[in-house]
Amino acid sequence: MPKYLTLTDYAQITGSAPIKRQTHGWRSKCLQRLVRLDMPVPQTIALSFGVVREIATGAQMNLRHLLGHFPKGQLLSVRPSAEHPQWGGPAAILNIGMNDEKHAEIAAIYGEPVATELYLRFVQSYAAHVAHLDPDMFDATEPCLPALQAALRDYESEVEEPFPQSPAQQLADVLRSMARAWEGTSARLLRQAKGAPVDAGLGLVVQAMAGGIGSGESGAGLIRFIDAETGMAQVTGRFKSRGVHGQDAMKNGADVLYLTRDKRGPSLEERCPEAFAELLRHGAHARSRLREEMEIEFTLEDGKLWVLDAVNVQRSSRASVRVAVDLANDGVIERDEALMRIQPKALSDLLHRQVDARARTTVFVRGIAASPGAAIGRVVFSSTAAQACAARDEPCILVRRETTPEDIRGMHSAQAVLTERGGMTSHAAVIGRGLGVPCVVGASGMQIDERRKTVRAGDNILSEGDMLTVDGTNGMVLIGEVPLLEPALDDRFTTLLDWADARCDIGIRANADTPADARIARGFKAQGIGLCRTEHMFFEDDRLTLMREMIFADTSEDRRDSLERLLPMQRADFMDLFEIMQGEPVCIRLFDPPLHEFLPHSKDGLRFLADALDKPLSEIVRRAEALSEFNPMLGMRGVRLGVTIPEIYEMQVRAIFEATVEVSHRGTPVAPEIMIPLVSAMREVELVKSRIDAIAATVRSRMGVDFEYRVGVMVETPRAALRAGDIALHASFLSFGTNDLTQMTYGLSRDDAGRFMSDYVQQGVFPEDPFHTLDLDGVGELLQLGAARGRKARDDLTLSICGEHGGNPESIRFCRELGFDYVSCSPFRVPVARLAAAQLVIEELG
Ligand code: PEP
Ligand code: MG
Repeated sequence: MPKYLTLTDYAQITGSAPIKRQTHGWRSKCLQRLVRLDMPVPQTIALSFGVVREIATGAQMNLRHLLGHFPKGQLLSVRPSAEHPQWGGPAAILNIGMNDEKHAEIAAIYGEPVATELYLRFVQSYAAHVAHLDPDMFDATEPCLPALQAALRDYESEVEEPFPQSPAQQLADVLRSMARAWEGTSARLLRQAKGAPVDAGLGLVVQAMAGGIGSGESGAGLIRFIDAETGMAQVTGRFKSRGVHGQDAMKNGADVLYLTRDKRGPSLEERCPEAFAELLRHGAHARSRLREEMEIEFTLEDGKLWVLDAVNVQRSSRASVRVAVDLANDGVIERDEALMRIQPKALSDLLHRQVDARARTTVFVRGIAASPGAAIGRVVFSSTAAQACAARDEPCILVRRETTPEDIRGMHSAQAVLTERGGMTSHAAVIGRGLGVPCVVGASGMQIDERRKTVRAGDNILSEGDMLTVDGTNGMVLIGEVPLLEPALDDRFTTLLDWADARCDIGIRANADTPADARIARGFKAQGIGLCRTEHMFFEDDRLTLMREMIFADTSEDRRDSLERLLPMQRADFMDLFEIMQGEPVCIRLFDPPLHEFLPHSKDGLRFLADALDKPLSEIVRRAEALSEFNPMLGMRGVRLGVTIPEIYEMQVRAIFEATVEVSHRGTPVAPEIMIPLVSAMREVELVKSRIDAIAATVRSRMGVDFEYRVGVMVETPRAALRAGDIALHASFLSFGTNDLTQMTYGLSRDDAGRFMSDYVQQGVFPEDPFHTLDLDGVGELLQLGAARGRKARDDLTLSICGEHGGNPESIRFCRELGFDYVSCSPFRVPVARLAAAQLVIEELG
């Protein structure tokens, strides 16, 4: 015995009906808002989540009562109404109520073709979605009477019953099938993947068809008041006319009208000026009252306008920014709300070129999206080839197994970088983000054959010179040239960020190694440089030779001699940075990598070096081997070099102080900060700091000028975090280097993690790649301990983060809660960080 639902289990949508998004879904709520705005919405009834759930389990509604709300013979539609539009729902079913009698009635008034089309479309969707018959059996493309008769026959022979003629039965069947479809496993998994809870409900909307048939202008359309790509005010959309009496329908596209006047053909504006003007009025009204740019679905029936639905216009990131700023400038929303409406990571789409989402693409390989943006170029397999391409002004993509510091110049020359190995903080990824070069790493589905100069992924093989598109935003590599969208750093973008700055209460600095990086950082209003990795300065050709000379020096004097010649170059580097940053703090990290990174790896390279240094090849090979380490990341690097080969740091520190004096002398304020990397013990800091102070004293007395500077420590070993209390006694700032800190906390090489990271994430071992998203539980606890112990020892201690996590909204939230003074991230992430930080403040203000 089926359960019968009571008469009050549905609500007619009126301005005052008790309809909520949480009980009836977004569509019902939206329709109620349109009714409240006096839009001509056809008669609509909303079924709640609870009722639909009951229907799914076999309960029946009193449909006679429900149908009593509509005129006799009224055709109906049923549409899904989940709590959020993105959770989807079963396909809408239109023209419920079509049967033999209705067909004859419509045919008599508007002609047989119109009636046949409506009936056939209904039979088709009923067969597929309600009776679950094979849709191919019913896919007649040309609606005509024989096709309709065949469909009715086929239906009867498959179901062994004639096509239902009772509108009440049709409606009952449609409601039941839609309710059950929602409960199906695949529908549930699909919506859960989009964030819906397990028990998400489905509402249904039963609406009178304003089907666009009539004796005047009739048809269906969609209108938007902005361009969805740019966000500029512009009427866009379409209107499909059935013509007068519907006879002209479907003829050679003559039925599709422009919305606004257009030289190319007839428009709705000309044909139905009153309805068009009414649509414009509704659009403006919806914008100001619903405080959004809406897309209105409408029909005309005998020239009368009906509004069937209105949803937020789906838009690009660039359009989102423009719309939010324009709405705030027009006083429709507050500035804070405009800031909250933009996803921080969407801003990064505006900063870089993007693959046009409308383009047809063929994927070559997928990898980790390591540096955003898209670029097109010819495949090259070496840095030398990349530099040769750049010399010919030919865009190229550098494809490597992995990159090393030797590849920096090649990376500078390439439009994008693709590597087989690596993760979010491997060399290619870090440098790619710093340079703003799109980068995909860890593309383990490809194999490079360096000898043949080819790269294979599945069945596709590309040779040097073939065209490739790298989409670093989505971690995709596409074959050939794909259309790209240009960046959009327009005035709306700047305005939004200015509003963000007015809210932001944590400093945002940039990781910048070169004058080019520093200029970008300054352009994005970074409040200083939080990390300048000085080793990159030694890879220029002339410097590399001097560097190698220094590494191979036999005595301390010889080493000092090579460093003496490097000093003016370093001084010039720092002067450039100080000039560009105009008194904003510049935090210079002393030399960090193991020395063998500066040595050639090939036999040819070693031979060339022997020549350049005028030493026997055997000695070069022996010394190079002696420098190599089993585990260089945990070997002789960072402060360990500073303690054991103090001349390098001495040269760098002198260069910093001399640059400070010279630039201040020109009238530009300078705020230098010196940061010691890879510290694990307080004594390391004590030793290096006392040498720094001694050099400062020498430079002061030699140049006869006083200057200020700060010395701090990069906390990137777990021990440094644990011992932050005593380390802080010798450091005026601690900056957490979360790349190495993550590597050492997990005991997981940042260069090799890419090989198994996706398996680990898929199997739920790690919730996310910890090199990408800061591990708040483990690494985060070290940050928390380090910050608390450091501040306890010294309450004026400056705290910051400068690992790659620094620009992520969730790390910013965490660091802000710990009372950090600033975060530092790659220059292109500065705008993202500014917005994310502002949103945290607004969120707190409630
Ligand atoms: C770090 O380890 O977090 C860091 C910023 O330094 P690098 O990436 O140069 O090792
Ligand atoms: Mg580090």
